[in-house]
Amino acid sequence: MLKNIIVLTSLIAATFAACPNIVSRAEWGARPPNSISYQSVPVPYVVIHHSASGGCTSQSSCSSLVRSFQNYHMDSNGWADIGYSFLVGEDGNAYEGRGWDRVGAHAPGYNSQSIGICIIGTFTSSVPNTSAQNAAKNLISCGVSNGKIRSAYSLIGHRQATSTACPGDALYNLIKSWDNYNPNP
Ligand SMILES: [Zn+2]
Repeated sequence: MLKNIIVLTSLIAATFAACPNIVSRAEWGARPPNSISYQSVPVPYVVIHHSASGGCTSQSSCSSLVRSFQNYHMDSNGWADIGYSFLVGEDGNAYEGRGWDRVGAHAPGYNSQSIGICIIGTFTSSVPNTSAQNAAKNLISCGVSNGKIRSAYSLIGHRQATSTACPGDALYNLIKSWDNYNPNP
């Protein structure tokens, strides 16, 4: 008697997360958080920010800026940690802030249900370079692939959450063309 063994390899769709290089907290020299709260994943929102600072094109210069943001958020704002979930530099790296699973402090009303991504620089009249754009997009894809961001997520700019110029006019106009941009969150 013959048995047909059907190998359903086509149904085993290997999904390779297009994750950017993620510089860990230890690698950029983070201080430990003062407290931690966890959020339910996958989250429904991705919130885009700019840092409204100078930009950076190397891991050392980006790490230095990320440390300065953490110091400001903890020492001046009194927050438990750097506010963003991740940061992205024009060096093409992503930098781990609070990460995928911890509640951030970056967009009122969205903090416990979003990943907040800050692209380092001021993008009022120019957009981030291609390396940073790709790193941000890959970071979102990575989060979806890893079950941290819903596949039907909404992408918004910080200004859609609260009164702010963030993420800058040029970057805000750019993200309107990105996957899952939601004009009416
Ligand atoms: Zn912002």
